[in-house]
Amino acid sequence: MHLSFQSLNGFTRPLARLIDQFERLPGIGPRTAQRLALYLIRQPKEQIQALIQALQDAHTQVGQCQICFHLSVDTLCDICHNENRNSRLLCIVADSRDVIALERTREYKGRYHVLGGLISPMDGIGPELLQIKTLLARLEKNMIEEVILALAPSVEGDTTSLYLARLLKPLTKVSRIAYGLPVGSELEYVDPVTLSRALEGRRILE
Ligand SMILES: [Zn+2]
Repeated sequence: MHLSFQSLNGFTRPLARLIDQFERLPGIGPRTAQRLALYLIRQPKEQIQALIQALQDAHTQVGQCQICFHLSVDTLCDICHNENRNSRLLCIVADSRDVIALERTREYKGRYHVLGGLISPMDGIGPELLQIKTLLARLEKNMIEEVILALAPSVEGDTTSLYLARLLKPLTKVSRIAYGLPVGSELEYVDPVTLSRALEGRRILE
């Protein structure tokens, strides 16, 4: 069956709807959306069922850790659950993807706190929308020797780091990863070697 895009207009509404759904996803442009949709409608029924099931399961089963707000199936994530992790070292990240990137380095043995974004006045994201109150509560409740800010070297990352540094410095030692990270880079795209050097070379914020 040959499908040209001209022939799609009008009579293949389900396909257009599928393409539209893909286009809503981050990083997917119209061409990729069309490619994915055309690929999927040619796959066997079992494969489509497996995809639907996996999507549904992930969506219903994966929530947030009640302590660090990393993705978790249980109330507590594997990292918060792990007694061997250093609970006096807390690494602050914007997103769960950053936890995954830092875990890939296999260097970091402390715990995390996922903010759920970065301060961005342009997008209407203030500190109150991030997991900062819960962070302060953690610092009050637990003996934390150092907080490592592992936020992207971008305008939003700098703003958030500055805000947090001011807030946290009276409470504990605060450092920020910096070394070797290109400006504007998102943590999840930085290779593990560069990222572990950035972690090692973190600077204490005075
Ligand atoms: Zn956790």
